[in-house]
Amino acid sequence: MKKSFGAVSVLKDISLSVPRGGVVALIGPSGSGKSTLLRCLNLLTIPDSGVIRVDQRMMDFTNGHKLPADKELAAFRARTGMVFQNFNLFPHMSAVQNVMEGPVTVQKVERGAAREAALKLLEKVGLKDKADVAPDKLSGGQKQRVAIARALAMKPEVMLFDEATSALDPELAGEVLAVVRQLAAEGMTMVLVTHEMAFAREVADTVVFMRDGVVVEEGPAAQVIDAPRQPATLTFLSHFH
Ligand code: ATP
Ligand code: MG
Repeated sequence: MKKSFGAVSVLKDISLSVPRGGVVALIGPSGSGKSTLLRCLNLLTIPDSGVIRVDQRMMDFTNGHKLPADKELAAFRARTGMVFQNFNLFPHMSAVQNVMEGPVTVQKVERGAAREAALKLLEKVGLKDKADVAPDKLSGGQKQRVAIARALAMKPEVMLFDEATSALDPELAGEVLAVVRQLAAEGMTMVLVTHEMAFAREVADTVVFMRDGVVVEEGPAAQVIDAPRQPATLTFLSHFH
């Protein structure tokens, strides 16, 4: 896949493959293209060229910048759930309304059923008692767990996390990491952009190190983090010790 912004080539023929049930951690310096890659996977950003496949569904951009119809785009986008650093909750809706919104408006699920499913998801992330609370009354960790429940409500095949704990104090980050850990144990396919090397090592099967829009090194998590083979990976990791 390739993506440029103006004259700046941000993704330079990058290729990433995640097996079903696999967890990939994407690491690399600021500006290396991690968020851009994640946004392309979710089609929040349209790649200039390349192919994205989720299960049987494929989006082909090989003939250049041909934008699919909105409906097709939305259907494909729904296959991947995205969680952002800054939560992006709907501020005027309660926790449970946030979680119900996608299923009700996009998937046309009946409100009662959507609410019931949303409450189950809030329970899963440990927030059953916060269902009727507004986002501004929640801690950062709680907001992020609502955001995860909201993404899960669309029943995605893949979950994408872009520095989901970077805005949180360690204690609150821990609550969110516990949910991610649980999803991994349940076999959810995930791509995690993270600056937490210990977490990447623990929860990811594969670690991908990116720099300047290319994959520099890719391998089993423990190998890449404990014994990187590329000098650039070693240099990057040395900032975390
Ligand atoms: P960080 O660790 O700081 O989040 P990143 O690896 O996620 O960095 P990206 O956000 O993907 O990096 O950005 C890669 C490059 O693309 C940067 O140079 C950035 O300035 C540029 N870029 C990203 N989005 C856009 C955009 N919409 N328009 C122009 N340039 C962009
Ligand atoms: Mg980023």
